[in-house]
Amino acid sequence: SALLQLRELRVDIGERTVLQSVTLDVQPGELLVLMGANGSGKSTLGLALAGHPQYQVVSGQALLGDQDLLAMQAHERARAGLFVSFQAPPDVPGVKNNLFIRTAINAVRQARGEEPQDAFDFLSGAKAAAKDLGLPATMLSRPVNEGFSGGERKRNELLQLSLMQPKLAVLDEIDSGMDVDGVRAVVKLVERMRAEGTAFIIISHYLQMIESLKPDAVLRLDQGTIAERGDMELARSIARSGFKQHAASMAATA
Ligand code: ADP
Ligand code: MG
Ligand code: MG
Repeated sequence: SALLQLRELRVDIGERTVLQSVTLDVQPGELLVLMGANGSGKSTLGLALAGHPQYQVVSGQALLGDQDLLAMQAHERARAGLFVSFQAPPDVPGVKNNLFIRTAINAVRQARGEEPQDAFDFLSGAKAAAKDLGLPATMLSRPVNEGFSGGERKRNELLQLSLMQPKLAVLDEIDSGMDVDGVRAVVKLVERMRAEGTAFIIISHYLQMIESLKPDAVLRLDQGTIAERGDMELARSIARSGFKQHAASMAATA
């Protein structure tokens, strides 16, 4: 059965309904690309799943495996295997990156009934992962994201992702602000983790990266719902025509 099951999910921010009704299944190891115009609610979906308090799920269902995400606190959702990267990763002042990541990993291990990771194993793994992502090892001992450039923040999200080994990762415009090597690192890491069974919802406007990711499906979010599900051809049509014109021509041929 599906890893993630969303049923008629409605999400409000304050007085406003941003997502009307989102229904979606994600299978283990599946890679879905989520596209949509600015302000269509892509980040809202990720943040609502993560349990961000400003994004209120008013109705509908969200199951991760057999667990009811909506009944869980944000940290419990992470422990259950959900990873949501931020479009704009925040600073965590005063908390060293390596401690932050190690605490998160050990919380997940504890939830699975496993022993905490040995400090030496953690550090050697973290250093190797940082190197793969083109981050200097000194980043590990700096406070989370403090003084990091935009691209470094994104790479740091990837570092957390690779060390956390979630069941489902939602990556929100992970490519934005990243250089060519960074985008290649995204594709390589996603390929490896997908082969190991991690499922992905990848929010992106960047056609070249989407092509490289070889998604199982491409989704278009519009009017608070998944208006269209297709393959790479959908992403290409959006890139060619723009969201407005693509939607208009869909409506005309319907
Ligand atoms: P996308 O990621 O697709 O560009 P968002 O999910 O960020 O869109 O935003 C959807 C809508 O909700 C936008 O109109 C945005 O201005 C609004 N919105 C998002 N977050 C907040 C917030 N914290 N407070 C008020 N409005 C918000
Ligand atoms: Mg946006
Ligand atoms: Mg967004």
